[in-house]
Amino acid sequence: MKEDFLHYIWQHQYYHKAALATTAGEPLQVLRVGFYNTDAGPDFQEALLRIGEVEWSGSVEVHLKASDWHRHQHQHDPTYDQVVLHVVWEADAPVRRMDGTLVPVLSLQGRVDLSLGHTYQRLLQAKSAVPCAAFWPTVPEVTKALMLERALVERLEAKGQEVLQTFRSYSNDWEQTAYHTLLRGFGFKTNQQGFEQLAKALPLPVVRRHQHNLPQLEALLFGQAGFLDESADIYKAQLQKEYAFLRHKYTLQPVPRPIWKFLRMRPANFPTVRLAQLAAVLHGQQAFFSKLLAADTVKQFEMLFKAPVSAYWRQHYHFGKSAKALQQGIGKSSVHNLIINVAAPLLTAYGLYTDDRAYIEKAIALLGQLREGSNKITRLYEELGWQAKSAADNQAALGLYKHYCAPVNCLRCAIGHKIMKQNSSAA
Ligand code: SF4
Repeated sequence: MKEDFLHYIWQHQYYHKAALATTAGEPLQVLRVGFYNTDAGPDFQEALLRIGEVEWSGSVEVHLKASDWHRHQHQHDPTYDQVVLHVVWEADAPVRRMDGTLVPVLSLQGRVDLSLGHTYQRLLQAKSAVPCAAFWPTVPEVTKALMLERALVERLEAKGQEVLQTFRSYSNDWEQTAYHTLLRGFGFKTNQQGFEQLAKALPLPVVRRHQHNLPQLEALLFGQAGFLDESADIYKAQLQKEYAFLRHKYTLQPVPRPIWKFLRMRPANFPTVRLAQLAAVLHGQQAFFSKLLAADTVKQFEMLFKAPVSAYWRQHYHFGKSAKALQQGIGKSSVHNLIINVAAPLLTAYGLYTDDRAYIEKAIALLGQLREGSNKITRLYEELGWQAKSAADNQAALGLYKHYCAPVNCLRCAIGHKIMKQNSSAA
């Protein structure tokens, strides 16, 4: 028996209610279960009950044993003075509030259908990566679709919240926030930290002054990234000269060079190549955030991240190191990655901030139109018969796996809830 199982039983009222009474023998009627609270304080808030002849409004605390009240020191915590019912499995001790009054207790022992606990145990002990794999075919498609949609929205909103943190750190400036998020996106998986540090080391106002001049922009980006400290060829020498002047003018401090990772990377993903692509994007996009808000079609979003790199970077992937083939610029999958990790989170953050769901819907629709291959997480669900068709599906599967399946959070998942219902006579 786990406490979260008792929370679930109380939340959904999956117990036998015949002759319901507190352990003191007073008749009990549940008029409102209360809202599940995942923060500090009692487990359910704003519940409404009738105990005997009196109606009580307040919180409900759930424990496996009544004595856990003392173990958690609730008798000394004024937050628990509003508890009007203590729901337990085993009523092994009377408990009191700070003012000494007794807390009414409901014991669920003997009231819960054993099949519910058995189904939950099967989910908890399953060996498969998706613990409900054995039940999956029995769950209606609509339940799965709705849960995946919920996981997608939750994942997008979590990314949006992260962007809002950045937004606050830049004194609520959307262009600065978009600049930071864009740079972070250009780090892709391996060099995110380096690009984020670069965003701080090279402020947008400095970039803006030189955005129209690609060589100066490259000098600022490569210089601040620490790539202009040794000599290599004529082009690098030109950037070094430019950077020395700009660095002095703006008193800039470059990020430490060892932050950049090249190991086990294809040359096309080298941070130097990404910096050249970023310079091209910044060169072509003044007021990037405004353009992002105005974009409508996938093509328009793709164009935000596509720009021809300078002649030097068409033939190099590092200073002084020529590429065998001519560089074609940023690839389609990288552009889609930037739409997923830069455009969609920015739209969502803006939607959350302005309380306008239309931007969040726009982000969802955008991801729904991007065709994307499977990854090792989506394949787990595809093995069960589900099919990912777009980036939205992939993002939904990633969210479902990370927040629900991997931690076996089945009681908070609509698919798990359906399984519990289908496998219990009491539910
Ligand atoms: S969290 Fe949901 S989808 Fe994942 S294993 Fe549990 S019931 Fe299945």
